[in-house]
Amino acid sequence: MEQSNLSAKTSPGECRQCCQFCDKLVEPASCLKMGCRFIYTYREEINGRLYFGCLHKVFKVEIDQEMMQEIERSKLGFGGVKVHEAPLSHCPFSVDSTFRGKGKEFDCDNMQFFDCSSSDRYCYKVVEEGSERTV
Ligand code: SF4
Ligand code: SF4
Repeated sequence: MEQSNLSAKTSPGECRQCCQFCDKLVEPASCLKMGCRFIYTYREEINGRLYFGCLHKVFKVEIDQEMMQEIERSKLGFGGVKVHEAPLSHCPFSVDSTFRGKGKEFDCDNMQFFDCSSSDRYCYKVVEEGSERTV
Protein backbone atom coordinates (compact mmCIF):
# COMPACT_ATOMS: atom_id res chain seq x y z
CA MET A 1 0.00 0.00 0.00
CA GLU A 2 2.73 2.42 1.01
CA GLN A 3 4.76 1.47 -2.08
CA SER A 4 1.91 2.31 -4.48
CA ASN A 5 1.43 5.67 -2.78
CA LEU A 6 5.09 6.52 -3.32
CA SER A 7 5.12 5.53 -6.97
CA ALA A 8 1.98 7.61 -7.55
CA LYS A 9 3.94 10.62 -6.34
CA THR A 10 6.80 10.12 -8.81
CA SER A 11 6.82 10.29 -12.60
CA PRO A 12 9.68 10.96 -15.05
CA GLY A 13 8.82 14.68 -14.92
CA GLU A 14 7.99 15.26 -11.30
CA CYS A 15 8.53 14.01 -7.78
CA ARG A 16 6.24 14.85 -4.90
CA GLN A 17 7.71 12.52 -2.29
CA CYS A 18 8.69 15.36 0.01
CA CYS A 19 7.63 18.97 0.41
CA GLN A 20 10.22 20.31 -2.07
CA PHE A 21 8.03 19.33 -5.06
CA CYS A 22 10.66 18.82 -7.77
CA ASP A 23 10.21 19.03 -11.53
CA LYS A 24 12.67 17.68 -14.06
CA LEU A 25 13.22 19.93 -17.09
CA VAL A 26 15.01 19.42 -20.38
CA GLU A 27 16.25 22.24 -22.64
CA PRO A 28 15.27 21.64 -26.27
CA ALA A 29 17.52 24.49 -27.46
CA SER A 30 20.52 22.62 -26.07
CA CYS A 31 19.36 19.44 -27.82
CA LEU A 32 19.58 21.33 -31.11
CA LYS A 33 22.92 22.91 -30.25
CA MET A 34 24.46 19.54 -29.43
CA GLY A 35 23.01 18.09 -32.66
CA CYS A 36 21.36 15.17 -30.87
CA ARG A 37 20.73 12.36 -33.32
CA PHE A 38 17.35 11.65 -31.74
CA ILE A 39 15.88 14.92 -32.99
CA TYR A 40 13.39 14.68 -35.83
CA THR A 41 12.01 17.55 -37.89
CA TYR A 42 9.11 18.04 -40.22
CA ARG A 43 7.69 20.94 -42.18
CA GLU A 44 4.02 21.64 -41.62
CA GLU A 45 2.24 21.77 -44.98
CA ILE A 46 -0.39 24.26 -43.85
CA ASN A 47 1.93 27.03 -42.69
CA GLY A 48 5.32 25.94 -44.04
CA ARG A 49 6.89 26.13 -40.56
CA LEU A 50 9.61 23.75 -39.42
CA TYR A 51 8.96 21.79 -36.22
CA PHE A 52 11.23 19.51 -34.26
CA GLY A 53 10.74 16.92 -31.56
CA CYS A 54 12.53 14.21 -29.62
CA LEU A 55 12.26 10.63 -30.89
CA HIS A 56 12.44 9.35 -27.31
CA LYS A 57 9.74 11.76 -26.19
CA VAL A 58 11.95 13.03 -23.38
CA PHE A 59 10.07 16.20 -24.25
CA LYS A 60 6.69 15.49 -25.79
CA VAL A 61 5.88 18.77 -27.51
CA GLU A 62 6.88 19.54 -31.08
CA ILE A 63 8.43 22.98 -31.23
CA ASP A 64 8.45 25.62 -33.94
CA GLN A 65 12.18 25.89 -34.59
CA GLU A 66 12.26 29.49 -35.83
CA MET A 67 10.10 30.68 -32.96
CA MET A 68 12.37 28.93 -30.47
CA GLN A 69 15.51 30.43 -32.01
CA GLU A 70 13.93 33.86 -31.85
CA ILE A 71 13.11 33.41 -28.15
CA GLU A 72 16.60 32.05 -27.56
CA ARG A 73 18.00 35.43 -28.62
CA SER A 74 16.10 37.11 -25.80
CA LYS A 75 17.57 37.56 -22.35
CA LEU A 76 15.72 34.67 -20.72
CA GLY A 77 16.03 32.26 -23.58
CA PHE A 78 13.60 29.46 -24.36
CA GLY A 79 14.30 27.60 -21.13
CA GLY A 80 13.26 24.11 -20.15
CA VAL A 81 10.15 22.00 -20.59
CA LYS A 82 9.02 19.31 -18.19
CA VAL A 83 10.25 15.90 -19.25
CA HIS A 84 7.71 13.36 -20.44
CA GLU A 85 10.01 10.33 -20.51
CA ALA A 86 13.14 9.71 -18.47
CA PRO A 87 16.18 11.53 -19.92
CA LEU A 88 19.09 9.63 -21.40
CA SER A 89 22.54 10.17 -20.01
CA HIS A 90 23.42 12.88 -22.56
CA CYS A 91 20.16 14.87 -22.29
CA PRO A 92 20.50 18.47 -21.05
CA PHE A 93 18.19 18.23 -18.06
CA SER A 94 18.01 19.92 -14.68
CA VAL A 95 15.86 19.59 -11.57
CA ASP A 96 13.97 22.54 -10.09
CA SER A 97 12.59 22.49 -6.56
CA THR A 98 9.46 24.55 -5.97
CA PHE A 99 9.76 24.89 -2.19
CA ARG A 100 12.70 25.11 0.15
CA GLY A 101 12.53 24.49 3.83
CA LYS A 102 14.03 22.84 6.83
CA GLY A 103 12.90 19.74 8.62
CA LYS A 104 12.17 16.12 7.97
CA GLU A 105 9.39 16.86 5.52
CA PHE A 106 11.93 18.55 3.18
CA ASP A 107 14.50 15.73 3.29
CA CYS A 108 15.03 14.15 -0.11
CA ASP A 109 13.94 10.55 -0.19
CA ASN A 110 14.48 10.05 -3.92
CA MET A 111 18.03 10.99 -4.93
CA GLN A 112 17.64 8.89 -8.10
CA PHE A 113 15.37 11.62 -9.41
CA PHE A 114 18.48 13.76 -9.96
CA ASP A 115 20.01 11.16 -12.28
CA CYS A 116 19.13 10.33 -15.84
CA SER A 117 17.00 7.22 -16.26
CA SER A 118 17.81 5.15 -13.19
CA SER A 119 16.88 2.00 -15.09
CA ASP A 120 18.78 3.18 -18.18
CA ARG A 121 15.98 1.63 -20.18
CA TYR A 122 16.59 3.96 -23.10
CA CYS A 123 20.37 4.00 -22.99
CA TYR A 124 22.35 2.12 -25.57
CA LYS A 125 25.70 0.50 -25.20
CA VAL A 126 27.90 1.64 -28.05
CA VAL A 127 30.82 -0.68 -28.58
CA GLU A 128 33.71 0.99 -30.32
CA GLU A 129 37.04 -0.57 -30.98
CA GLY A 130 38.82 -0.84 -27.65
CA SER A 131 36.14 0.91 -25.59
CA GLU A 132 32.53 0.83 -24.55
CA ARG A 133 30.35 3.79 -23.70
CA THR A 134 26.68 4.38 -22.95
CA VAL A 135 24.74 7.03 -24.84
S1 SF4 B 1 17.28 12.38 -26.61
FE1 SF4 B 1 17.73 13.96 -25.08
S2 SF4 B 1 19.24 15.31 -26.08
FE2 SF4 B 1 18.25 14.08 -27.68
S3 SF4 B 1 16.53 15.34 -28.44
FE3 SF4 B 1 15.74 13.98 -26.83
S4 SF4 B 1 15.89 15.22 -24.96
FE4 SF4 B 1 17.22 16.17 -26.45
S1 SF4 C 1 13.77 16.67 -2.86
FE1 SF4 C 1 13.88 14.51 -3.49
S2 SF4 C 1 12.12 13.48 -2.53
FE2 SF4 C 1 11.77 15.70 -2.41
S3 SF4 C 1 10.50 16.15 -4.16
FE3 SF4 C 1 12.64 16.50 -4.77
S4 SF4 C 1 13.37 14.56 -5.64
FE4 SF4 C 1 11.46 14.15 -4.54
